[in-house]
Amino acid sequence: MKILVLNCGSSSLKYQLIEMDGEKVMAKGLVERIGIEGSRIKHTKTGMDAVTREAPFPTHTAAIKYVLDILVDPEYGVLKDLDELYATGHRIVHGGEKFTKSVLVTPDVLKGIEEVIPLAPLHNPANLQGLKAVMEVLPGKPNVVVFDTAFHQTMPPKAYIYGIPYEHYEKNRVRRYGFHGTSHGYVARRAAEILGRDIKDLKIVTCHLGNGSSITAVKDGMSVGTSFGYGTAEGVLMGTRCGDIDPSVMIYLMEQLGTPQKVSDEVHKKGGLLGVSGISSDLRDVEEAAEKGCERARLAWDILVDGVKKYIAGFAAKMGGVDVVVFTAGIGENGITFRKAVCDNMEFMGVKIDAKKNDCRGKETIISAPDSKVTVMVVPTDEEMVIARDTLKCASEAK
Ligand code: ADP
Repeated sequence: MKILVLNCGSSSLKYQLIEMDGEKVMAKGLVERIGIEGSRIKHTKTGMDAVTREAPFPTHTAAIKYVLDILVDPEYGVLKDLDELYATGHRIVHGGEKFTKSVLVTPDVLKGIEEVIPLAPLHNPANLQGLKAVMEVLPGKPNVVVFDTAFHQTMPPKAYIYGIPYEHYEKNRVRRYGFHGTSHGYVARRAAEILGRDIKDLKIVTCHLGNGSSITAVKDGMSVGTSFGYGTAEGVLMGTRCGDIDPSVMIYLMEQLGTPQKVSDEVHKKGGLLGVSGISSDLRDVEEAAEKGCERARLAWDILVDGVKKYIAGFAAKMGGVDVVVFTAGIGENGITFRKAVCDNMEFMGVKIDAKKNDCRGKETIISAPDSKVTVMVVPTDEEMVIARDTLKCASEAK
């Protein structure tokens, strides 16, 4: 069974074609600058070098048609015929309170995703464009939607209600939603599998640290708290996003800058590692500058390390303990020095890593010392595979 996985942004589209027998990625790629001059596609057939082609992609539909063409191309393709495709899985950022799991697309589901647009005005319309384009180009093939928010819908109200008048929740559903759910759910389940334990018996803190970062408390296999909130700026310091901030600062920025858009840019695009260090949004650059003595780079690094420590300890307290801490995504999987800095001085709560074991990148590894009460692990995330699995399951159930 072959599943196409799509992740559509407003001007980009990432895809993977996965053979579910053996869960192998057959091809993957990225279309950039959709609707903008200079659009291009980078396509990789597994086992071959990537090919990049400039081509005009005025719309998502045009981009998807091209992707389907390249998938059946005699040289770069991996399919003889598009009929071999079983179904398409789509990443949808926001499912609101309506979607608690992945579902097969029906007219009602489409309506539901549209209703959630006010909560994700940038992301959901872009995701929907991709979905509608596939429905147009591949009529009759099942589509499944997988939501970033769904995994967190198990949080109790005490973990998602903000301390503002309750009517904002009642009228407009202003609350914490949490994102990266596909990743948190996957690495938590995978950690339990690797340890040979039932996830229901474990208290896990999952740290998804990339350009965007969030940390989640997983108890009984369910999300009981997460650091992302109504949107994706809350929590720890990120590449360009500010993380936790006193609302008074937002009011000050509003008075200074005058428009919500300018304030939004300040906290979403100009903040984070970039804003504090003045160097880069990329932790590798920040680390290098800090090592060379740049004080603001050191400060940005320290703020992030502190923030991650605070969430791990806070979520441990919330769950009445922690058995496993998982690091994933770009920083979590590759940041050897970073992981060490986070775990330093955490022995008071049973976290002790082994320097040699921690010297690893991008592979499933237990990095805690044998006498560490808490198991600390690196588990590379694989959101596309989760989307493909859910797609196969939902599409098969519907047949
Ligand atoms: P996204 O959220 O865009 O998917 P990624 O998960 O790819 O991002 O993470 C990107 C981040 O990972 C960047 O800040 C980058 O610096 C960081 N990263 C990648 N490799 C390393 C490394 N070796 N050490 C520290 N950070 C790293």
